[in-house]
Amino acid sequence: MTQAMPLPLYAIGLGSNRRHARFGDPRRVLLRAIAAIESEAVEAVDASPIIASAPLGPSRRRYANAVLLVASSLSPPEMLAHLKAIEAEFGRRMGQRWGARTLDLDILLWSGGTWADDMLTIPHPEIERRNFVLAPLATIAANWRHPVSGLTIRQLGAKFVRPKPVDRGAAGL
Ligand code: ATP
Ligand code: CA
Ligand code: CA
Repeated sequence: MTQAMPLPLYAIGLGSNRRHARFGDPRRVLLRAIAAIESEAVEAVDASPIIASAPLGPSRRRYANAVLLVASSLSPPEMLAHLKAIEAEFGRRMGQRWGARTLDLDILLWSGGTWADDMLTIPHPEIERRNFVLAPLATIAANWRHPVSGLTIRQLGAKFVRPKPVDRGAAGL
């Protein structure tokens, strides 16, 4: 008897910093995107809260970030193609790296470990430097170990936690 193998898991990072004409503000864009990522071959397992910024500064630009955990039989290149098709559906234009974009979907982690070719690097190389990725990721995959550093997501996120100021009065100092 063959035993059913558990499907590979992927952690997908979602970001938006631009309204969608029909869907609305970045938060709503991400809710729609989560629904769009689910398909016959992609099963949503868990979703982080959506971290949304208040409009700040003269541009009043809002952004939203979240992480989605999915189980899927798709290979990493197939998953990337699936995500790029959804970005295109949401009206993302090419050549917008770092600029305003309706939807950015990145493969952050894959239970298969590492992947590296011209199109795709897993884990996503910027995970450790981005609290807007680590914070939502820690809400759904805190014990997932980064396959290169061996550290858990919780450990990677710890360096972004600011120590609370010591209450000198209560400590009697
Ligand atoms: P960053 O990767 O620093 O978050 P970005 O998301 O703005 O930047 P994009 O313009 O969206 O960058 O993507 C550029 C290319 O990166 C994609 O076309 C894709 O082929 C490649 N890429 C490499 N690794 C990944 C990954 N793990 N997830 C998504 N795309 C990746
Ligand atoms: Ca990105
Ligand atoms: Ca991207």
